[in-house]
Amino acid sequence: MKSAVSIIGGGLAGCEAAWQLLQRGHAVQLFEMKPQRFSPAHKMEYLAELVCSNSLKSNHADSAPGMLKQELRTLDSLIMSAADQTAVAAGSALAVDRTEFARTVQDKLLQQKNFKLIRQEVTKIPRDVITIIATGPLTSDRFARAISEMLGGSYLYFYDAIAPIVNADSINMGKVYVASRYGKGTPDYLNCPLTENDYETFLHELLAGAKVPARHFEEMKHFEGCLPIEVLAARGHDTLAFGPMKPVGLIDPHTGTLPYAVVQLRRENSAGTLYNMVGFQTRLTWPEQKRIFRLIPGLENAEFARLGSIHRNTYIHSPSLLAPSLQLKTNPNIFFAGQITGVEGYLESTAMGLFAGLCTASILEQKAIHPPPASTAIGALVSYITADESRQNFQPMNINFGILEKLSAKRMKKKEKHFEYARKASEALKNWMHEQNLQT
Ligand SMILES: Cc1cc2nc3c(=O)[nH]c(=O)nc-3n(C[C@H](O)[C@H](O)[C@H](O)COP(=O)(O)OP(=O)(O)OC[C@H]3O[C@@H](n4cnc5c(N)ncnc54)[C@H](O)[C@@H]3O)c2cc1C
Repeated sequence: MKSAVSIIGGGLAGCEAAWQLLQRGHAVQLFEMKPQRFSPAHKMEYLAELVCSNSLKSNHADSAPGMLKQELRTLDSLIMSAADQTAVAAGSALAVDRTEFARTVQDKLLQQKNFKLIRQEVTKIPRDVITIIATGPLTSDRFARAISEMLGGSYLYFYDAIAPIVNADSINMGKVYVASRYGKGTPDYLNCPLTENDYETFLHELLAGAKVPARHFEEMKHFEGCLPIEVLAARGHDTLAFGPMKPVGLIDPHTGTLPYAVVQLRRENSAGTLYNMVGFQTRLTWPEQKRIFRLIPGLENAEFARLGSIHRNTYIHSPSLLAPSLQLKTNPNIFFAGQITGVEGYLESTAMGLFAGLCTASILEQKAIHPPPASTAIGALVSYITADESRQNFQPMNINFGILEKLSAKRMKKKEKHFEYARKASEALKNWMHEQNLQT
């Protein structure tokens, strides 16, 4: 394996980058620190672990996350094919059985003859070997220090919070009801209905409840798309009732009326034994989570398979550090991939792994490569993280229509516009693949 590409980190991005290289006949050695060392959120020995929600968001081709999925499928993504194979019912979203998903990814890689898995924490930046760094938002401390030394301190921290998981058999099925918001897709969510009185009590306790204090060396910065429930609640009396607890389209069949607010529970595994509290990522202490979440109708006796918690997110200032090929400008032997590049989300991280894999293969084959146009979801993400190196306030980003190349000025209704984005992206990706001699 003398000329093998080294990939550090066997998460979503690292596994996807490995797959793309292997499919093009290149050898890969993948370093993964588990089970020798686990981050605060990783629990399984398998590669490609989903550390929080088991949902990969919307599967609709005319939504931004749906477009990204379609592009990954077109580019033969290992992560997408494993997700499609291990999907569980989740309405119009794509959710997976996390154990089956991770096992499938790992098995597929281990079946490749040019693949070597080395279970070891990497603590130094390799020299003179083509390397992809994909150690994720919870990069080990020692390796984070090595990255910091290499980059001159240009990396940042902020927090993410994870939502609790409830054992299905502890949910009061006489109170909750099955329905999907807006009646879209199949009704796979359980809904806990709250009266105005229940809401007032819950809100009061949530705001007053004890929170885990931030550690002194970490700067408190939340990503807007993953705010703790108590941070949202503190923004105003009705913020939750119009946000994650909005009851729109969820009539309670027990009463025939719309509740004042709802807490939605999404299936966590294919067996249906676990449910995730949607949008309930939190910094409440564990005893307070149990006390306060049991005030929710239907969860009076809830047993929690996992409680919410807070975590660090490590990412680099990609606009100043990375070329559009995701290579370090100061050392072209080093590529970055995944969430550490400043994207946010499972499939966004996967996409940056896929593109890093393609770029590395092109460099090895001495071929030029440029990113897909910003009218595609993948191109828009690459452009978001690598354009405008002088950007001061660089924040992680998930895929959304706002970062895609704007459509022509023609006035269109919202739905029509979304279809047009999807149509343009699909056409642009095919043209780009043709130019790059990638097979469709
Ligand atoms: C707590 C938390 C919850 C999140 N929840 C969601 C969510 O619900 N939905 C969503 O879309 N996104 C979520 N994210 C964001 C993010 O998309 C995921 O973390 C995603 O898994 C990132 O993919 P990755 O491949 O970049 O990193 P990871 O999937 O984390 O993979 C990195 C791998 O590198 C390994 N590693 C780390 N350091 C070393 C080292 N020095 N040597 C060797 N191996 C190492 C780790 O063990 C890990 O396996 C969450 C992030 C966090 C931190």
